[in-house]
Amino acid sequence: MATINDNYLKLKAGYLFPEIARRVNAFAQANPDAKIIRLGIGDVTEPLPEACRTAMIKAVEDMGDRSSFKGYGPEQGYNWLREKIATHDFQARGAAIEADEIFISDGSKCDSGNILDIFGKNNVIAVTDPVYPVYVDTNVMAGNTGDANEKGEYGGLVYLPVTAENNFTAEIPSQKVDLIYLCFPNNPTGATATKEHLQAWVNYAKANGSIIFFDAAYEAFITDPSLPHSIFEIEGARDCAIEFRSFSKNAGFTGTRCALTVVPKTLTAKAADGSNVELWKLWNRRQSTKFNGVSYIIQRGAEAVYSEAGQTQIKALVNFYLDNAKIIRQELTNAGLNVYGGVNAPYVWVKTPHGLSSWEFFDKLLETVNVVGTPGSGFGAAGEGYFRISAFNSRENVEEAMKRITAKFTV
Ligand code: PLP
Repeated sequence: MATINDNYLKLKAGYLFPEIARRVNAFAQANPDAKIIRLGIGDVTEPLPEACRTAMIKAVEDMGDRSSFKGYGPEQGYNWLREKIATHDFQARGAAIEADEIFISDGSKCDSGNILDIFGKNNVIAVTDPVYPVYVDTNVMAGNTGDANEKGEYGGLVYLPVTAENNFTAEIPSQKVDLIYLCFPNNPTGATATKEHLQAWVNYAKANGSIIFFDAAYEAFITDPSLPHSIFEIEGARDCAIEFRSFSKNAGFTGTRCALTVVPKTLTAKAADGSNVELWKLWNRRQSTKFNGVSYIIQRGAEAVYSEAGQTQIKALVNFYLDNAKIIRQELTNAGLNVYGGVNAPYVWVKTPHGLSSWEFFDKLLETVNVVGTPGSGFGAAGEGYFRISAFNSRENVEEAMKRITAKFTV
């Protein structure tokens, strides 16, 4: 009889979003006239930038002509796209990243999970708490953890709490860890990291031979010019970091799918025989074997992000969501709530009032003003007592939701 990967049985069955859907559906059934506004999701709502659409339409035409038709492309992505990313996103910001260190993919979600393929089984792994759940679940699937306890924490993982008390930046661990996931601007807290904070992580990683997985999916939302957009703006990061980036949130590609992973050629980790192996070679081998590249049409769409028109349009898109975040911050503050994030990020992280638990606050918001957010405890035990509101929505919905909250919800 065939057997399964038993690690899947350790997963907490995708508890968060199905539970939200269950409660919202039950409420909607009992209150059919309620106009529910969903500010829980991390998906974008506004259309694709025109520059991207035009480039993709042209690329479809290319596919209709024998002379410009494209079959399988390079597994790592087309060089014209990798060059533009290297120049614009990295070199222009003082980060010495070359085009061939950039691997184009169909998503940061996949990359941040797949990266574990090239690492060994005995690494000590650290995540912040709360955290983007994919980092944890992919480690569970890979067999890198024990079982979950009643708080939902998996044995074997090192959890680094991030709360208002430490300004939502994890303390550098006193113990030695091998792999560390960092996400800035952060999902779910909306927190950012200064150069000094990232430098401290890089120094730690270099001293301990650790690798940092740096998720910069929300870098386009950074408005403060002093903040780094990439870990590779930090001295020494080429020797200890891998970065994930995505076109999902800056250019509205959540349904279109294009992202990238940067693996510097200078980055190494230990093989069982004690030798140092270049991770670039392993990731290149992994991608060439298990992945066949992103569609030519989509890569042309992503390339258009770097055109003059594309840059103007994505800035407008990001500013639209940031203005939503500003309205949310303002109105929730007026309602007497303590809010964090939402300045350099599309997420506003709210402290629940009167000691309510995350789920109690969820129910209260749903029942009194018919607004849906995401309970912070769903992102980790240290998220208890917090609540995430997403700025990814129409202006109309955001304004209406905030109007209801300030009218009926003042604490
Ligand atoms: N990383 C973080 C922190 C995210 O919040 C998300 C999506 O919400 C992703 C990665 C996924 O990005 P992609 O759409 O490129 O898979």
